[in-house]
Amino acid sequence: MAGDTPLMAQYKEIKKQNQDSILFFRLGDFYEMFFEDAVTASKELGLTLTSRNKEKDIDVPLAGIPYHSSSAYIGKLVSKGYKVAICEQVEDPKMAKGIVKREVVRVITPGTIIDTEYLDEKSNNYLMGIVLKKDIIGISYIDITTGEFITTEKKRTEDYVYRILGEINKISPRELIIDENSYVLLEQELKQFAQSNRINVNAGLKVRKSDEYLKKYFNVISLDSFNLNGKDGAIESAAMILDYVLELQKGNEIPVDKLIYSGSENVMELNLTTQRNLDIVSSNKENGVLGTLQWVLDSCKSSMGSRLLKHFLKNPITSKELILKRQENIGLFYDNVLLREELRGKLKDIYDIERIIGKLILGNENGRDLVALKTSILNGLEIYKLLKGNPIFEISIDKLVEVYNLIEVAIKDDAPFSVREGGIIRDGYNNELDELQNISKNGKDTILEIENRERERTGIKGLKIKYNKVFGYFIEITKANIHLVPEDYIRKQTLANAERYIVDDLKVYEEKVLNAKDKIENLEYHLFKELSLTVKEFKSELHDLAYKLAYLDVISNFAHISTKNGYIKPEILETGELEIIGGRHPIVEQLVGRENFVKNSVVLNEEKNLIILTGPNMSGKSTYMKQIALILIMAHMGCYVPAEYARIGIVDKIFTRIGASDDLVTGQSTFMLEMSEVANIVNSSTKNSFIILDEIGRGTSTFDGISIATAITEYIHDNIEAKTIFATHYHELTQLESKLRKATNFRIEVKEDEKEITFLREIVKGGADKSYGIEVARLAGLPKEILDRAKEMLKVLEERKMIIEKKVKKEQLILFGSFEENIQEQKISEPKEEIKELENEEKIAIRLLKEVELDKMTPLDAFLKLNELKRILN
Ligand code: ADP
Ligand code: MG
Repeated sequence: MAGDTPLMAQYKEIKKQNQDSILFFRLGDFYEMFFEDAVTASKELGLTLTSRNKEKDIDVPLAGIPYHSSSAYIGKLVSKGYKVAICEQVEDPKMAKGIVKREVVRVITPGTIIDTEYLDEKSNNYLMGIVLKKDIIGISYIDITTGEFITTEKKRTEDYVYRILGEINKISPRELIIDENSYVLLEQELKQFAQSNRINVNAGLKVRKSDEYLKKYFNVISLDSFNLNGKDGAIESAAMILDYVLELQKGNEIPVDKLIYSGSENVMELNLTTQRNLDIVSSNKENGVLGTLQWVLDSCKSSMGSRLLKHFLKNPITSKELILKRQENIGLFYDNVLLREELRGKLKDIYDIERIIGKLILGNENGRDLVALKTSILNGLEIYKLLKGNPIFEISIDKLVEVYNLIEVAIKDDAPFSVREGGIIRDGYNNELDELQNISKNGKDTILEIENRERERTGIKGLKIKYNKVFGYFIEITKANIHLVPEDYIRKQTLANAERYIVDDLKVYEEKVLNAKDKIENLEYHLFKELSLTVKEFKSELHDLAYKLAYLDVISNFAHISTKNGYIKPEILETGELEIIGGRHPIVEQLVGRENFVKNSVVLNEEKNLIILTGPNMSGKSTYMKQIALILIMAHMGCYVPAEYARIGIVDKIFTRIGASDDLVTGQSTFMLEMSEVANIVNSSTKNSFIILDEIGRGTSTFDGISIATAITEYIHDNIEAKTIFATHYHELTQLESKLRKATNFRIEVKEDEKEITFLREIVKGGADKSYGIEVARLAGLPKEILDRAKEMLKVLEERKMIIEKKVKKEQLILFGSFEENIQEQKISEPKEEIKELENEEKIAIRLLKEVELDKMTPLDAFLKLNELKRILN
């Protein structure tokens, strides 16, 4: 722009290329922000907004932060969802002709933060990418602090949006990139979810020739080595996010050197609702982990262990062999308490090796990181000794000892946070450095001598030689003593109650000291970086060590938790059996105390694969069902389980469908999702799946909910044969048992005396024969008048029951599909013409169709109604 200062012109040029970021523009020791960036940053960071150059007549808003404390500000902005572009001076100002050259050296987004200080150490910081293709969805995710890079693909079924939500929830990225073409479509669908989970969603550009792009980056001839041939969705999504990341890094190396294809073959499928309903891990930051399975199971000693455990929790395995391997490993520490305690004691001093390697490669490591790495290696070696070469912990001893020594001889144990101010390198490591240190030390000694000399010469006891960055060394004399100052003192500065002077030889030594200091700082930095490069060469051995330590941590943690909480090793089978004797809910038992928790058992097999569970509200139905699902998940993680005895056939998927008021998925009850959820159960469940249908219809219109649940239950029973538990407080539904061959009724026992009921929380065979709504209301503390009135009404209702039942009967019969079986019964109790009417199924269907009130129906109701009609006609 005409009239701009050269600096402003440069700024505007750079800003033009970084429109969507807040531009941190380096000016000397500060990052400055101008215009709108300044306004935003001052608001978000609480900085004072000033204005600088007058641009013609317009003020230029300006806000600045010191560069050495920038990372806190960057962390804060990025965590609020902003992109920050870091623009540095890329030439030495002293050498510059005209204006100093500046360039954006890195752009930081929520998914690409490299300053690990601002990240949760127990979670990965993922950037996720999605590419929608005609039949396939490509999904990839990357954590540039650890170098983890994983890709996968899924079929694009009708319920794909729901599946995508499930994947996002599982990976819980901070940032999501969707390919440009699908962005508009998916952004709408995901908006609410992304917002409530604080995920930044952006459009991404697909890379041309993705496979070539990946081959080039990883320097491989074929993607076969990553198991990726022909997997276009996986390849395209991986290339898209890799390109995105590299673009932001502006040529800086990232710690990503392999791509892992994660097939779903050996992983249990848990859809979005199930992940949330079962409280496996915390679903948002505010709530924290309290009350989740993660909270119960994570006593890991290292952050790497906690992250791996979280991965285990989200990815239970379905390979018997793998599960048995983990069980065997846990056994090693379960029985041997001494070994376990000693191991965990050492794991405590293992630092985040994964992220340290990441920092080394990203180039933002410091001396402390190397010391932490050294300590971790030492503990790793001690653990090796402790385990006496057990194959569970085979590591590259020689190489690791080499790295340890490299760091040990070079880096001081108390190295500072900064890498530019010296104090990092040990004495004796480098001759040149030692000499400089000597000069500096001698200079400082001499300056001390000068101080003594001047004290004696002037007779001023309080005479002091001080140092600051602007004036270097100087002599400070308080006002009271000024009359004693000799002639040869040169005055430099006047303060309120003191004067500052210099003398000639002070300046000579100052020169030496400062010169040496400068050189020391540069040399130390250089030596440090050189060492880092060497250490970086060992990254694969270090990665291996990191993973194995994390695994040991998780395994010994499982052993520890299992002993502490009284878990037992489940027997794993490849048949469709499920038998849990004396099972407990792992989370609830922690909350109410193990002694207060009532154990319960379950048996499901090929002959009886469906349980209809009745019991009043608050009697423990949900707890019972979730308990089984959680025990299954724990068993499939290889962990021990809260039970007296358990035989568990491998389960491929777990589904939960929970009635509205119990629905924990916040803000997700749009029709689309509800529908997809049902579709997902029906389409994806198999004979080997486990399904919970819990109180569907509570809180919504009763009939609606019961119909959905009943329809699904019947479908599963007839066509899928998955192991299913159906819970309801409508005792009427126990009639399903007679209709469904493989169903059994169970109920939760309550003890009833006079006017009171007590929940025994014990599951027994048979259905409940009455509802206990009013008693539960009393327990909940409702006023007596209300309860009395309710009882009165109930009595009236019960008297009228016969009349009402007659009306309802037909509909119920249809609902339960037990039409024909009940004809006999009907014949006895109903008048003749009604039987005639009932005999004609088509007539019923037509009547029902006529009764349909379209304007009062959701599409789901319509679907279910249709389903019902079809059933009658078949
Ligand atoms: P329902 O689903 O039948 O309404 P819940 O499963 O939600 O009942 O249980 C209600 C409460 O009862 C739970 O929050 C829990 O504290 C307690 N509870 C449930 N089952 C047990 C049990 N087996 N032992 C002890 N307390 C239990
Ligand atoms: Mg419940």
